[in-house]
Amino acid sequence: MKYICLFIISLITISASAQTIVKQDASIKQMVDEVSAKNIETIVRKLVSFKTRHTLSDTVSKTEGVGAARNWIKVEYERYAAASNGRMKVVFDKFVQTKGDRVDKPTPMKNVLAVLKGTDTADKRIYIVSGHYDSRVTDVMNVKDFAPGAVDDASGTAVSMELARVMAKRSFPATIIFMAVVGEEQGLYGSTNVAKRARAEGWQIDAMLNNDIVGNTYGMETGLKDNRSVRVFSEGVPAIETEKEASIRNSVGGENDSPARELARYTKEVAERYVEQLDVKLIYRRDRYLRGGDHTPFSQQGYTAIRITEMNEDFNRQHQDIRKENGVYYGDLPDFADYDYTQKVARMNLAVLANLAIAPARPQNVSIVTSGLTNKTQLKWDAPKGKAPVGYYVLMRETTSPYWEKKFYVTGTNAIIGYSKDNYLFAVQAVDADGHESLPVFPKPVR
Ligand SMILES: [Zn+2]
Repeated sequence: MKYICLFIISLITISASAQTIVKQDASIKQMVDEVSAKNIETIVRKLVSFKTRHTLSDTVSKTEGVGAARNWIKVEYERYAAASNGRMKVVFDKFVQTKGDRVDKPTPMKNVLAVLKGTDTADKRIYIVSGHYDSRVTDVMNVKDFAPGAVDDASGTAVSMELARVMAKRSFPATIIFMAVVGEEQGLYGSTNVAKRARAEGWQIDAMLNNDIVGNTYGMETGLKDNRSVRVFSEGVPAIETEKEASIRNSVGGENDSPARELARYTKEVAERYVEQLDVKLIYRRDRYLRGGDHTPFSQQGYTAIRITEMNEDFNRQHQDIRKENGVYYGDLPDFADYDYTQKVARMNLAVLANLAIAPARPQNVSIVTSGLTNKTQLKWDAPKGKAPVGYYVLMRETTSPYWEKKFYVTGTNAIIGYSKDNYLFAVQAVDADGHESLPVFPKPVR
């Protein structure tokens, strides 16, 4: 959105030629600036030093294999947690994975979670940032050979870890979990365990950001170099939608307004507010073509989740044995990664997480009133639980537009907008006195 403008009661018109106003929260900006490419590189190179982080590799050695890697991640998180006044707790999420296509025997696995407890005890919202710390080479069952996994996905793990370091020192009303999961390459096992556990235990996860492959800026074959763009993948129709919900979605034209799409648009707006030379590309697709990632198990449990990935992938790096063939180097080695780029992606994650964790929760029961035929649009909603918003934005866009185009600021819990619901899409988000916005909620029709 071109305008980021607060406390304007009248209609705000967004146009490409208009002056752009960016209002930043100084405390978020300071955290964004503290995210360090040097620290990220140190984390990635340390993870690479374990030789392999294959999920089924050695767990006894102190220096090599998945066991040494997860122990180091836990100790490192605990070092950051020391600055949190006891609010950040670091835990292994342990489970035994049963035998499967890519798991040859029942295997104990451990995710590493650093949980930064929210300061508002009544606020049950949880935000998750995640990367997978396991790695692989060409043969997915090869547990011995050097599998550096620098970009896939030490880079995403480093995002979780560097954010934990910066954010542990600060407090937020909502809880943030910095996650490093295992078993991704064997079949999304680590993230699936957390997602199922979260659902069983009633965790109120409001958003999950999966960073997987966020450290390369060179596109194989195309030769494209791009350290400015990053892709955000979001599903269109929620994975767990009921037949009735799908029928309503079809009849109101909401195929492009799943909670994940709202999170994706929000990510673009907030990230570009804080991070310079960043172009967030929204890809309206669950993941890359026919491929999957750790956000999907969360979607399947009914949570709002997106995937963040570099713009151009280098397939000479991913899932490759380390070798040189016909003058070409293969393998996911740390010298090929761009740490300034991962810093940018980490800063983007931080801005979004911080803004969400400070903002009020999403408004409830957001609806469009359909009792009378009118060329205007009547919306109503209930205030969110917890921190009271100072007001709300009613967001509006053309049905063909990928992004929200207009914001109407209102202080009550209803609005009549002078544009027809037949011709535009709407959503509502809560906003606090400092301009931190909740995720937008797409309305349901009510009579
Ligand atoms: Zn990966």
